[in-house]
Amino acid sequence: GRPGCECNRCFDGPDCSIRTPNCTADANSGDPLFLEPYWKRHAAASAVLVPGWHRLSYATTDGLYQSVELENHIRQLHRAVGNAVVDDKTLVLGAGSTQLINALVHALSPDAAAAASPPARVVATAPYYPPYRTQTAMFDGREYRWEGTTAAWANASRNSSDGSRFVEFVTSPNNPDALLRAPVLRGSAVIADHAYYWPHFTHIAAPADEDVMLFTMSKPSGHAGSRLGWALIRDEKVAKRAYEYVQNSIMGASRDTQLRMLGIVRFMLANLHGKDDIFSFGHDVMRSRWRRLSAVVSRSRRISLQSIPPNQYCTYFDRVREPSPAYAWVKCEREEDDDCYEALLKARIITRSGAGYDASSRYTRVSLLKSDDDFQVLMDRVTDFVNAENYDG
Ligand code: PMP
Repeated sequence: GRPGCECNRCFDGPDCSIRTPNCTADANSGDPLFLEPYWKRHAAASAVLVPGWHRLSYATTDGLYQSVELENHIRQLHRAVGNAVVDDKTLVLGAGSTQLINALVHALSPDAAAAASPPARVVATAPYYPPYRTQTAMFDGREYRWEGTTAAWANASRNSSDGSRFVEFVTSPNNPDALLRAPVLRGSAVIADHAYYWPHFTHIAAPADEDVMLFTMSKPSGHAGSRLGWALIRDEKVAKRAYEYVQNSIMGASRDTQLRMLGIVRFMLANLHGKDDIFSFGHDVMRSRWRRLSAVVSRSRRISLQSIPPNQYCTYFDRVREPSPAYAWVKCEREEDDDCYEALLKARIITRSGAGYDASSRYTRVSLLKSDDDFQVLMDRVTDFVNAENYDG
């Protein structure tokens, strides 16, 4: 490989341009490397240098665990993008939105100290992002219990006989199928996960304004490894409980991360609507990937993709835009392909089975977020798969 540099495992040679034949495509993880070329182009302007003596303290000079500057910049980003109403909400930072998944379940559940009330029932609509289940189930206790999919409760929810409340995860756009979602249960306390509600991945129709919203830096800027997420919470008591959860758990999100992300958000803001707009860049990449994948899969009778409404008006771009989802939710159409993950694995494509999403194993998730090289290998393997089908007749 290149000196000091490693080729993607499907490429070799001095400039990593030689393809390893029949290399397996790995489309499992939601690693947002599609944004790496953007940040490479702006390497110097987005860099943050931190000397060894800097930020030794647990808290800021005013004794806070959250940087006020960072908070103001995140609020400004939401206002500029128009994807969330922030003015009447408290912002709580966490180590990725992953940490805040449980912080919010805790904050919306009855206080364990104030006995009597039964545990909250935590639910989501299939197919849903698996950590809602795995994390809630890991911490199941007196306050709340994982209670599976909304389908089981849709009729019972209005008069849950023991008076327990529902905490419902609503992911919009959804992971894995990219569809916009609304709550299913009436009267549930909603955690609206808007990880993908950014112009890279969907049109912005109006600012989101749920009582409890979850966001992450991982998808808009691509800095998944920095682990920064935030919740926007209308009710101050709920916000206080979520904030205390993060204090008890980790004494505040990493201050190195807060410093680095301040630089990143500042750079994003300074370039909005200009020639280096990160959302124009991201949307262009994701739209072209979806176009290419759709074109190949449209020739197949063996697999199909979710259908996404075409050409929706986006308030951020002030024009209609084409679909650009983060994931393809692939369905295997043939009777014998009842395990779609296995069917694609045989064709050297690693995906994430629908079974984990509490959906049928006829479905599997394909990540479109990875690097250009990863996507190119994926396109080659999918093209081989579809061509082979046409040869078999
Ligand atoms: N919510 C959803 C819907 C996601 O897809 C992800 C990341 N794949 C997360 C939350 C967690 O992201 P992070 O912990 O990196 O903020």
